[in-house]
Amino acid sequence: MKFLCLTCDEVMAFAERQLPGDGTLSVIFTCPACKREIAMLTNPMETQLVTSLGVEIGGRTVSQQPMQQTRMGMDSPREDAFEATETSHAARGPVTWSAEATERLDNVPRFVRGMVKRIYAEYATEREINVITPEVMDRARSDLGLEGM
Ligand SMILES: [Zn+2]
Repeated sequence: MKFLCLTCDEVMAFAERQLPGDGTLSVIFTCPACKREIAMLTNPMETQLVTSLGVEIGGRTVSQQPMQQTRMGMDSPREDAFEATETSHAARGPVTWSAEATERLDNVPRFVRGMVKRIYAEYATEREINVITPEVMDRARSDLGLEGM
C-alpha cells in the first residue's frame, strides 16, 4: 500500500502509525519533497480487512491483536451466550420444566437448544405459565410459528 503525492509525483514515506487498541488504525505518510502529510484512518472493520490481507504498513505487518480477540469471541459456542442471558429471565419469573418437556428439549440439536429453551421460557413467562410441559411447547410452537423446534 503506497500513497503518491500528486504535486511532486513522489511516493510518500511512512511517518507514524498508531494502533489505539480500539480496533481503529491511523497511519501518517509524509511527502519527502514538499513535506505534506496525509493520514490514513481505518475503522475496526477496515483494520480487520487490512490485517487479514497481511498488508504491510511502514515495513511491518499490522498487529492482528485487536480484531483477533473479537473473532475468537464470535467463535465461542453460541449456546453459552444464550445460557448467560437466560439467567436474567429466571430472575423475572421462575419457569420450571417438566420431566417430559426436558426430555423433549434434549432432542433439540445442541447448537440451538439454548435459544429454543429461551424462546419457550419467554413464552411461558409472558403468559405467567410456571411449568413448561410438552403441551405448553406445542402451544408455543403453533402460536409463534416455530414448527420443527
Ligand atoms: Zn509533495
